[in-house]
Amino acid sequence: MNESPAKRHYPPWALALLTSLWLAGPGNAVLWQRLTHLPDGAQASVVGPLALGIVAALMVLLAPLCGSRAMRLACVALALLAAFINHGMQQYGGVIDPSMVTNVLQTDLREAGDLLSWKLPLTLLLLAGPVLVLAWWLPLRRLSPTRGAQHALVVGLASGLLLALVLWASLHSLAPLMRNHTGLRYAITPLNALYGVTRVAASQPAKSQPLQAIGQDIALSPPPTAAPPLLVLVLGETTRSDHFGLNGYSRDTTPRLRALQASGEAVLSVPGVLACGTSTAASLPCMFSHAGRLGFAALEQPHENLLDLLQRAGLAVLWVDNQSGCKGLCDRVPHADTGALRTSPACGTDPDGCSDAVVLDGLSARVAALPAERRAQGVVLVLHPMGSHGPAYYKRSPTALKAYLPECSTAVLKDCDSTQLVNAYDNSVLATDALLANTIGWLKEQKSYRTAMVFVGDHGESLGESGLYLHGMPWSLAPEVQKRVPWIEWFSPAYAQSLQLDMACMARRKDLSHDHLFHSLLGLLSANTSLYQASLDASAPCRGLSASIQAGPPG
Ligand SMILES: [Zn+2]
Repeated sequence: MNESPAKRHYPPWALALLTSLWLAGPGNAVLWQRLTHLPDGAQASVVGPLALGIVAALMVLLAPLCGSRAMRLACVALALLAAFINHGMQQYGGVIDPSMVTNVLQTDLREAGDLLSWKLPLTLLLLAGPVLVLAWWLPLRRLSPTRGAQHALVVGLASGLLLALVLWASLHSLAPLMRNHTGLRYAITPLNALYGVTRVAASQPAKSQPLQAIGQDIALSPPPTAAPPLLVLVLGETTRSDHFGLNGYSRDTTPRLRALQASGEAVLSVPGVLACGTSTAASLPCMFSHAGRLGFAALEQPHENLLDLLQRAGLAVLWVDNQSGCKGLCDRVPHADTGALRTSPACGTDPDGCSDAVVLDGLSARVAALPAERRAQGVVLVLHPMGSHGPAYYKRSPTALKAYLPECSTAVLKDCDSTQLVNAYDNSVLATDALLANTIGWLKEQKSYRTAMVFVGDHGESLGESGLYLHGMPWSLAPEVQKRVPWIEWFSPAYAQSLQLDMACMARRKDLSHDHLFHSLLGLLSANTSLYQASLDASAPCRGLSASIQAGPPG
């Protein structure tokens, strides 16, 4: 009888071990690269323990699957995850922490599409390909449920013990390294993403708690005889304070606002405003919260936001979004998504969506559709444009506004030299300048209201400084350029007069932060509530009528 030799079958933990070894090595290419480039050197001694620790930690995670057919799938999934993370960290610097995981989970197709590049398939092939082949090819022993559980227990315990031993033995070298270079912790792949997902999932029960009502005593006390206010809040997306011409940038990236200012219009700019976070998902909810940056982080359950309060006060509120959504802020107020506005010339046939000009399209009709009794009290519009959202900065400015050329015309930012990258970003600031000037132009046409505009960026951006791109770094590690945003206001004469705004005083203001936004808008809209803090109202010291806005219940 011609019998073929029995094919050798391996226990499932063998696949887990080979995958973990691969992930600890090439699967952490960026980690090892960053470790070797640390300025303080002498890191060779930590490479061994760190790699061994990664292997042990991955084995602990994979051990429960020793008796399951899901082992192959889990190994492939981890390898793919590691490849995606390496691609992202390689291309844009940065790390993967819980807030970055939130950003990824909240992103939309347009944003995600911008991040894709031809290098991604290559990285996937190089880093995940070998594990894919291994998982496909390696013959694994089929274990009975009892045997599988035994394997899981032994492998899990042995790996856990190894992990504990490695940590204990290398604590003196690993601990100071991770303390001095916090970013390295979040570069350990794919454990960084798994940790982030766990943290985000753990925070969900708190978020699903009932919404806490705040400011229930809110009431308007508008200046007598004044027309109702129409205030437009424009949220700047990915706006760096230091790249705005009005803030002293060497390039005149805000020519239209400057021209308005030169013509005597009340255009005011406060540079270097401290943001609440370094990403949209972190900043936006905090900007509209009464609690401020530190207080917001400590809130244990969801609270109503500024828009809820303004609506409760009787104002008509509308959010117009040309971005990836309002992060829950507009859930209880009227809102419109420009994605549906396909007929607008600002959308054209561009599959990437509409240019930011779309937010003004049909805005008068949108306002007219708000309840008349609310409009009689006043209107607050929030415009949420794409602004300077990267990495495809070149998509954020129309051809006619591209003053700085050549510009980086790819999302693979490392392929562009620094000048081209900055050119593309600055062109997007020119587009924001145009949007703000056009918003002011639109406001001037609204004759039945006294009108004003407030523009505040959500967070800044890294443009390749220290090898870092985009935004979303953990707050403690983030460079100032990711934290400092512009704050620009415009007031019609009627608005300025109604609040007796002292423009010289307004122009002198500095040291503002996102913590000021909530209270400043309450002040500008003459809305009284016990939550209001005059010390955080940016215009309070400059308002002749500030005495009429008091903390405490009205009446
Ligand atoms: Zn943002």
